Amino acid sequence: MGTRLRARLGDLPKPMIPFDGRPLLEHQIELAKSHGFTDILIFACHRAEVIERHFGDGSRWGVRVRTVVEKEPLGTAGAVLAALDILAEQFVVMYGDTMVNVDLGRLAKAHLDQGADATLLVHPNDHPLDSDLIEADGAGWVTAFHNRPHPADRWFQNLVNAGLYVLTKSALTPWAGSTQSLDFGKDLFPAMLARGARLLAYNSPEYIKDIGTPERYDKIQAELTAGVVRRNSLGTPQRAVFLDRDGTLIEEMDGLRSPEQLVLLPGVAAAVRELNHHGWRVVVVTNQPVIAKGFCTEAELGVIHNKMETLLGREHAFVDRIYYCPHHPHKGYPGERPELKIDCECRKPGIGMLRQAAADLNLDLAASWMIGDTTIDLETARVAGLPGIMVRTGHAGSDAKFPGAPGLVADNLLDAVHLILARTSL
Ligand SMILES: [Zn+2]
Repeated sequence: MGTRLRARLGDLPKPMIPFDGRPLLEHQIELAKSHGFTDILIFACHRAEVIERHFGDGSRWGVRVRTVVEKEPLGTAGAVLAALDILAEQFVVMYGDTMVNVDLGRLAKAHLDQGADATLLVHPNDHPLDSDLIEADGAGWVTAFHNRPHPADRWFQNLVNAGLYVLTKSALTPWAGSTQSLDFGKDLFPAMLARGARLLAYNSPEYIKDIGTPERYDKIQAELTAGVVRRNSLGTPQRAVFLDRDGTLIEEMDGLRSPEQLVLLPGVAAAVRELNHHGWRVVVVTNQPVIAKGFCTEAELGVIHNKMETLLGREHAFVDRIYYCPHHPHKGYPGERPELKIDCECRKPGIGMLRQAAADLNLDLAASWMIGDTTIDLETARVAGLPGIMVRTGHAGSDAKFPGAPGLVADNLLDAVHLILARTSL
């Protein structure tokens, strides 16, 4: 119904709200078509006849449209389950109140390649504390749903269900014929997980925002006009700022191995927030030989990173991805994990983590930057062919391992970010 949007909507049903003079649903249908999806079902209830009349059989858009009219609202999942018999074995679900620019082909491929029962597009947001959060393991499989409010004494990954899914019909068989009102996020996915279904968390920085209030609507229209929506698909190369962790984002602590030791440096949340606001991908790349040395497990490192994400999230900042190198080249110490004591490609100044990020997030490395507190970070930047900035926090370059590595210098992360923004806005 879009009651809160009445001033922008008039008497139209919410999915028909105009952006650039065309209904939101039309933007979605064009997106679907551009990624090869041409069979479209619209589930409508309030003023469904307006939607049916506008889209007809879809031939005007070169797609097949069918509108399913709900007698009473069944919830996001309830509506889909009630119409299961007319759905294909794999299908994408999009909410009619979201502006979306997602590479749907890439998303569907991930779903099929991984053999998921359901794939959820998830992302970090700038208000994780009052969002329903998802927990995923290192391979991206959902392990838990944490609905708000969140206890203050636990650290959470900043991962939020964005409201875009790929589903495998046969995985929904236990719910076929359901006539209950069910929501995907609150009801169906937790129930699927409880029955052992494989839910893939597809972490993506692409554009997906719900309209909901006049303020959000106006912001989305402004971003559409400014090209923000168009640029923020994984089909378009993105620029990133790579951040070292220890000494750059958090206080340098030799061999940090427990969440209690983690303290954010002053001003880093503001720095990351500025990068978020200016459309930069923020990617942490950190050497963590504590894993190879046996001082800390991957799971413990995960909790450390969850604390960092929670602290940043409290200040409305987020990182898009965290990559760590668990390896270490020198063998022969008690308690070490021999399988990780190797010469790898990812340990900085190797650029394996930057390459992986570039593949995962379609990054334009030549347009990206690296910030760190050691000459190893500057050398990493040099090898990757991107500009580096040394911060005077942490080691402040005192490691001197690569004295010849070129780079700019800034007092701290916030200054470094200002330097980047000043140089790139020219
Ligand atoms: Zn490595």
